[in-house]
Amino acid sequence: MMRGQALIDKLGDRLAGLRGRITPNAEMDKITWFRAGGLADALFQPADEDDLAAFLSAVPEEIPLTIVGVGSNLLVRDGGVAGFVIRLSAKGFGEAEAIGPTTIKAGAATPDKRLASVAYEAGIGGFHFYHGIPGAIGGALRMNAGANGVETRERVVEVRALDRKGNAHTLSNVDMGYAYRHSAAPSGLIFTSAVFEGSLEDKATIKAAMDAVQHHRETVQPIREKTGGSTFKNPEGTSAWKEIDKAGCRGLMIGGAQMSPMHCNFMINTGTATGYDLEYLGETVRTRVLEKSGIRLQWEIKRIGEFRPGHAVQEFLGQLL
Ligand SMILES: Cc1cc2nc3c(=O)[nH]c(=O)nc-3n(C[C@H](O)[C@H](O)[C@H](O)COP(=O)(O)OP(=O)(O)OC[C@H]3O[C@@H](n4cnc5c(N)ncnc54)[C@H](O)[C@@H]3O)c2cc1C
Repeated sequence: MMRGQALIDKLGDRLAGLRGRITPNAEMDKITWFRAGGLADALFQPADEDDLAAFLSAVPEEIPLTIVGVGSNLLVRDGGVAGFVIRLSAKGFGEAEAIGPTTIKAGAATPDKRLASVAYEAGIGGFHFYHGIPGAIGGALRMNAGANGVETRERVVEVRALDRKGNAHTLSNVDMGYAYRHSAAPSGLIFTSAVFEGSLEDKATIKAAMDAVQHHRETVQPIREKTGGSTFKNPEGTSAWKEIDKAGCRGLMIGGAQMSPMHCNFMINTGTATGYDLEYLGETVRTRVLEKSGIRLQWEIKRIGEFRPGHAVQEFLGQLL
């Protein structure tokens, strides 16, 4: 397959007229929290939803497309990402506003924190948990992001999305097929905006809840590190961090990657970690937890892209399948 500028040149006229920005050989480490990983063949940042629809209908189906948010839950492999990575611009997709006494509409590039403050300003309760999640709304919709006992699925009314051909769809809460940190909505859909419902609440109460969220984060999570948040989903009946701790993996390091000594389900790039280091560390932890407790941890972090030749990482290091 064509890569980088050659891919863009091959598409030539099909891309003419798009208003968004196209960048060949885009450095994924610059746009992900882990600050690691290879290049995307090309990055497209659509100007708005019409521009995204035009792009989707212009790019032939055989060219892979990968949608990303602000990369706070993403591990990019060192061999890079084939085809186009799509990242929604704040300008075209970053608006959030109250559209009713308890309803809010937000573009998919709206930071979760911004949605929390729009809700606060409008006296709409139930969104304080977003104050502590560093992603954007598109990622929250896909991941069913949650914290402090609340999940995205409890607030979503409907979601607008474009499919691979650029056609628009509206998905109800049920259509999103939510489960813990998961949506069963078709994987090719790109969410562009959503409507959320909360409840009337006085602003002082909302503010206190937001402050509590922030305080809690600062004391228990390495929020200023290069991290992807929780590495593994909590297994039934226990917490991932407890099992990681029991297996002796708190602080474990491989290359520049480490299981945070502060919160051992958070993986961090201490400065020089590659995508390989991070994924190899993750699979090492899975292997040790399986040996210790018989639990098969599931990745919460999404891993995208290709391995560098000779540096593939097998699930459970290929040992315990
Ligand atoms: C310090 C820290 C703390 C965190 N705490 C929490 C927490 O408490 N609770 C929690 O749930 N998560 C937490 N996370 C993880 C992360 O912030 C959430 O999963 C967030 O929702 C991801 O959003 P994002 O924009 O970064 O998405 P990305 O990481 O860029 O992408 C995540 C997934 O969403 C998909 N996606 C992104 N945008 C779209 C779109 N527009 N349409 C369709 N699919 C899309 C991507 O393809 C990918 O599969 C934390 C992360 C960090 C770094």
